[in-house]
Amino acid sequence: MKVYWIGETLPGKMVNVMENKSLHILAFGAHADDVEIGMGGTIAKLTSGGKHVGICDLTDADLSSNGNVHLRKEEAGNAAEILGVTLRVSLGFPDRGLFLKEAYINKIAKIIRTHKPQIVFVPYAKDRHPDHGNCSRLVEEAVFSAGIKKYATEGCNEPHKVERVYYYMINGFHQPDFLVDISAFIDKKLSALGAYKSQFEKTAESYHTPLVNGYIETVEARERMFGKLVNVTYAEGFKSKVPLLLKYDLLGE
Ligand SMILES: [Zn+2]
Repeated sequence: MKVYWIGETLPGKMVNVMENKSLHILAFGAHADDVEIGMGGTIAKLTSGGKHVGICDLTDADLSSNGNVHLRKEEAGNAAEILGVTLRVSLGFPDRGLFLKEAYINKIAKIIRTHKPQIVFVPYAKDRHPDHGNCSRLVEEAVFSAGIKKYATEGCNEPHKVERVYYYMINGFHQPDFLVDISAFIDKKLSALGAYKSQFEKTAESYHTPLVNGYIETVEARERMFGKLVNVTYAEGFKSKVPLLLKYDLLGE
């Protein structure tokens, strides 16, 4: 298992490696940039409020048509720094190989037990890229296993129960179950996405993928549309398998 802590592997990109490794939020993606596309604004909002947020990439995106593993890690480090995340981890599973295997579930469960997030975010499975749905499925299995007392994970056997799993959107537009107002954080989101030059910047050498042709603009337009639904400028949309409980009265007090 390859695990890299920002600051240890990317000199000069120190992003607060914690002494206490507990996280409020842990967001999983199949590839570095998935989390930023779906919920970069929400992460910037949470970290600006002092919350500890981690990002776990299941693969090194080694099959990316543009860029390479080293470059993508550097870009991922830059994006993480912009968003203020506490840690970024790559599990180094094979790109396009995210199949339901106990070995993968076990490694994800260990990450969950180590960092004890209250809430886990995963990609919404209705997405043109099958790796995104496979990422969700693996993490859902791991969330369940991590909470089982007798389930073994090497070196870290204390069970941890995640309170909620929510789903962020990568490709496309779906009817959200809830929205987070990111109006004040859209610039951070866009600059985090801008850190992935190898993916989103069209050059003479770029292989033509859906990402190099106005992709960031489409994401921005989607968040604008989500914002319009609730009368704010920008919002990010999420799905939930369980209803959300209002913690304030119906007048928001
Ligand atoms: Zn992806």
